[in-house]
Amino acid sequence: MKTLFLFLLLIGAGFEARAASQVDASRAEARELFARLIAFKTSKGLGQVPALATYLSEKFVAGGFDPKDIHLLPLGETASLVVRYRGKGGTRKPILLIAHMDVVTANPADWVRDPFILTEENGYFFGRGTADIKNEVAAFAANFLRLKREGFVPKRDIILALTGDEETAQETTRDLVENHRDLIDAEYALNGDGGGGVIDEDSGKAKLLYLQGAEKTSVTYSITAHNPGGHSSEPRLKNAIYDLADALKSLQG
Ligand SMILES: [Zn+2]
Repeated sequence: MKTLFLFLLLIGAGFEARAASQVDASRAEARELFARLIAFKTSKGLGQVPALATYLSEKFVAGGFDPKDIHLLPLGETASLVVRYRGKGGTRKPILLIAHMDVVTANPADWVRDPFILTEENGYFFGRGTADIKNEVAAFAANFLRLKREGFVPKRDIILALTGDEETAQETTRDLVENHRDLIDAEYALNGDGGGGVIDEDSGKAKLLYLQGAEKTSVTYSITAHNPGGHSSEPRLKNAIYDLADALKSLQG
């Protein structure tokens, strides 16, 4: 009895040790992924987004994803990457996770540290894209790989869509919506780029992560006023300038 108990205890300890080492391995993999992503100079004009997308694609294939569910979609010097994590099937529409692979331009001369080398100092990460938004790309990709490895099958498909020029023209986003809608059609999207994480100051533990569901954007209107007019030396009380002013004033809430 005692032997059996000890045996069970050892098995239990073995499971725990294995679970802990798996967590450590997954974290190390995520960290490595993050560093590799930062090293791709994916600013506008440098043409490295497709290389980053290829690197991730190869990771997904090696991680057991069907190549048919991985779509690298070049567009000019940049690209999008769409990966579908197959669920159990059924009628539920997929959930879409979005982020972008490009970063704002970074001139190394303006930086204290090399912007394209992931540097960790005093608990902080430095490098272009560490906060916008290769951190999220790494988190999404690492979790896809970990969950796949653990045999997780979601109730519905989960789609990861990474665009390649969010910081500039956003043509890859338009291309996905207009030309590849079937790949990204989902019940709703969660945007890793609109939110952020909160860490407990005392314990250092992760508390929550905000994900954005929608974003308002700007729109430009051009307003033209038509009026019979007259000569400016004898301005009429009813004229196009006043009509336009009335129109603008009426926008005031
Ligand atoms: Zn961003």
